[in-house]
Amino acid sequence: MKKNTGKNQMNRKKFEEVFEKHGYRDYKWIDPRQIVVAQWARMKCTFGCKNYGKCGTCPPNTPSVAEVKEFIREYKTCAVFRFTKRVVRPEDRFAWTRKVNSKLLNLEREVFLSGYYKAFLLFMDSCHLCSSCPGIKQLCKQPKMSRPSPESMAIDVFATVQKISFPIEVLYDYKQEMNRYAFLFIE
Ligand code: SF4
Repeated sequence: MKKNTGKNQMNRKKFEEVFEKHGYRDYKWIDPRQIVVAQWARMKCTFGCKNYGKCGTCPPNTPSVAEVKEFIREYKTCAVFRFTKRVVRPEDRFAWTRKVNSKLLNLEREVFLSGYYKAFLLFMDSCHLCSSCPGIKQLCKQPKMSRPSPESMAIDVFATVQKISFPIEVLYDYKQEMNRYAFLFIE
């Protein structure tokens, strides 16, 4: 693997100060070339997920798997943020998701405004910024704010975060603690 340049390391320190300011401490850097994008991940969205076609940032509203691979190739740096939560009922996680994703948008904005115009966030979970979603990208109620999740971009989150030694496992009960991840691409 190609080593990070001194400039990259310097930039990371700068970003880490911004992350700290926003209260983020549980994150790791990843070389975007380590991010696993897989056709099977898209298949899981298309068949077996009740969000398919119901969220403006989920398939079929997202780029193709080939386009995602191209998008990721255009970045040299990415930060992966970890969030944990236990919920009583599955639907309880949506309010939490909304709060976390809204806060992450502030972070993306600050990185963008500091001159990193390519900054792009992948939400921790499906968008959920609104209480109801038309499910069609063109009808999105908050188009400036909505972002896709890593899963909806066909990222194999399991394989990817394991590469940087973050925990993740298949859960069989919503009461188990979830490990969810958001990705912030920067350059
Ligand atoms: S911002 Fe609202 S309307 Fe747009 S994708 Fe997210 S939940 Fe749907």
